[in-house]
Amino acid sequence: MNQQNPLGERAGLETLYPVEPPEHVRAAAGRMVLTSVPFGDPMAAIRLDRQKRWLFFDVGSFAQVPARTAHQISDIFISHTHVDHVCGFPWLLGRRINCPEVCRVYGPPGLAGHFNAMTQAFVWDRLGDKGPEFSIAEVHSDRLDWFHFKVGQPGYEQGASTPIRDGILLQDPLFQVRATYLDHGIPVLAYAYEERNQYHFQQDRREALGIEPGAWIADLQKLANAGEWDALVTLPNGSTSTVRQLIASLMDIRQGYKIVYATDFGDTPANRSVLTQLAANADLLVCETSYLQEDEEHAIRTGHMTAKACAEIAQTAQVHSVLPFHFSNRYVDQPERLYAEVASTFPKVEIPHELREKLPGLSS
Ligand SMILES: [Zn+2]
Ligand SMILES: [Zn+2]
Repeated sequence: MNQQNPLGERAGLETLYPVEPPEHVRAAAGRMVLTSVPFGDPMAAIRLDRQKRWLFFDVGSFAQVPARTAHQISDIFISHTHVDHVCGFPWLLGRRINCPEVCRVYGPPGLAGHFNAMTQAFVWDRLGDKGPEFSIAEVHSDRLDWFHFKVGQPGYEQGASTPIRDGILLQDPLFQVRATYLDHGIPVLAYAYEERNQYHFQQDRREALGIEPGAWIADLQKLANAGEWDALVTLPNGSTSTVRQLIASLMDIRQGYKIVYATDFGDTPANRSVLTQLAANADLLVCETSYLQEDEEHAIRTGHMTAKACAEIAQTAQVHSVLPFHFSNRYVDQPERLYAEVASTFPKVEIPHELREKLPGLSS
């Protein structure tokens, strides 16, 4: 790591910026990694440690991402197809050759054509049947339109559409991902990664209550993790209780972690309202912070946010902490000013280690 200017693009480096979950969230199944922070081509990633699985939000630059990660990416969520948010995709093509899993990519309408076109930019004469496969989901208000292509084969095919309920694009046993549209002159998707709460059975509490063990414990565990709180469980003595009652007396609850990724949108009342809803009570809001308030005219002209506006959204949405990123290169020598502007309105700001000493008193 360059000691002179660890965050500056002019120093020719991009940083891997691991963000550990805040201490109050003990159950986080994943950890957050943000690359190219705060300058450079935007991208964020969540690693699900136990599953050796990665979720990516935009694919700006894989420069600092280990190659072995490529085979572990199950899902990619694209905000929009401006070049800085998708220019890392060709890296993935080469690294996923021979990967048995299909990678899902979600994004605005037109995504399948854009991503397939990137695969057509290269000669794939030695690939045979080993080309990586992608399922592309174009997000509409009420449905996902699915497309599929395999690198090395011409074109792409349209598949079925699937309905969307409550903005939920992906349901997983451990988490869900929701999306909403923001306006950046073009439609842009913001995403919320929401872990499910986890329920852990406590044998010592069962013993203290004098309840016999049995298959009901596995049933309870399954129903609790599925959110079936009103279901009834029959205990060994023949009595029944709701899952909700048994959770209260016999289980530890570990709160799920919520991360929201929002970038490239203008400071409009509609954007503020929609993002505030998506980000409500999030543990971490990863939010673009392109300009200082004093340069608001540039933010308005380009459909981007100021640090002050980002902080106000974080405050209204009552998030735990905010991670500012996607700084304009005009601040490459003074990134601390953007952090300071966020922190003056919303103090819980995630600041890279390298800058903390420059900003005494500002850290989450
Ligand atoms: Zn951008
Ligand atoms: Zn953009």
